[in-house]
Amino acid sequence: MAILLEQACSLLQENSRQMPVVELPLAACYGRILAQNTAADIDFPPFARSPLDGYAVRFADVKHATADCPVSLEVIDDVPAGMVPRTAVRAGTAVRIMTGAKIPAGADAVIRLEDTVTVNGFINIITAAGADRNICRQGEEFKQGAVLLTPGSALRDGALGILAMFGQDKPRVYEKPRVAILATGTEIVAVNQLVEPGKIRDSNSYMLAAKVLEAGGEPVLLGQVRDNIDDIEQRLEQAADIDLYLTTGGASVGDYDLMRPLFERLSVRPLFSRVAIKPGMPVLAGCWRDRLLIGLSGNPAAAGVSFELLIRPLVRRMAGVRQIERPRAAAVLQQKLVKTGPVRRFVWAECIFDNGRLAARPLLLQSNGMMAGLLEANALLDIPAFSPPLVAGATVAALLL
Ligand code: AMP
Ligand code: MG
Repeated sequence: MAILLEQACSLLQENSRQMPVVELPLAACYGRILAQNTAADIDFPPFARSPLDGYAVRFADVKHATADCPVSLEVIDDVPAGMVPRTAVRAGTAVRIMTGAKIPAGADAVIRLEDTVTVNGFINIITAAGADRNICRQGEEFKQGAVLLTPGSALRDGALGILAMFGQDKPRVYEKPRVAILATGTEIVAVNQLVEPGKIRDSNSYMLAAKVLEAGGEPVLLGQVRDNIDDIEQRLEQAADIDLYLTTGGASVGDYDLMRPLFERLSVRPLFSRVAIKPGMPVLAGCWRDRLLIGLSGNPAAAGVSFELLIRPLVRRMAGVRQIERPRAAAVLQQKLVKTGPVRRFVWAECIFDNGRLAARPLLLQSNGMMAGLLEANALLDIPAFSPPLVAGATVAALLL
């Protein structure tokens, strides 16, 4: 009846849509996912250049220079960065050159300023240079034509620098999936509303919106509705341009759990209704008008775990990300873990690097209804089904958040 987590993930991804591609100004691309190949349009560096301020010389002239027996050269030109040398270096001459400037013809080494002494129009070189010393060769970092970025690359500092380096002022990126978030539950009130007896504030919407943003999506908050099937339907109908619908609350089999009847009313094509993990077992997923509609539990810890394991990879797949999974690592339990059982369990934990290994401290206060786990957690421990109670020192798999 409950399906395996991996099966649930595959079903969602198979039924998801890939976002269309748009061109964006480079400055607006941080955090976007690239939808094109990017090749170097020029060699980089585009010309041989000096990595420091000094004098461009012929190696043959200076190879025997020492402080006691300096080599004197005539300075015949001066090249600031951005200018081109006017003359070639000949025997007995040097060209003053600044960092980033083009190496003049004839020169095959650069002596740094600190290793020279100026004597009216001449310089004394006091250190022998090696051939090719202090010259950055043309194309030594990137060769023209080399493919440096491919579709699915996340655009952060390095990738944005590369796009700029090679003239991509309007890269093609994927549109961000717009993810609707609707909080259902008669007890749920908006954050700014009076909390009357029996009511609680909607925390799920904001917690999930943060997770959507982090995953590369655009959250669209649909607010809060009571457990009333017409209200829920109406709110979902009203939302425009949505790529993925999420709800929290009412996903189980309680008297006022309305997601199942809603799925029937909306003729949602069902994919699954339970996933074999704890917390987060009740998850109703189906296709509605070519979009996925997924009902998560209202319990914050359960909704958080379901999001991490099912929704985050889905949003990232839709967003065009290549690497959709969190990294995993082995971690050593710092304290015993007795809450194991026949169902695969995920445990909010704080992992620190300690003595050459990852140490995991399962967080207290992590029953289904509790948000506290999410507050400090930087990992989810993946405890297999039918695991015996674990002792401190046991090694477990950790999903690094
Ligand atoms: P449900 O999934 O509707 O059975 O709700 C499970 C628990 O989660 C109940 O204690 C609800 O009050 C709580 N809950 C439901 N929705 C939210 C929400 N948006 N924010 C915080 N808690 C919620
Ligand atoms: Mg409810």
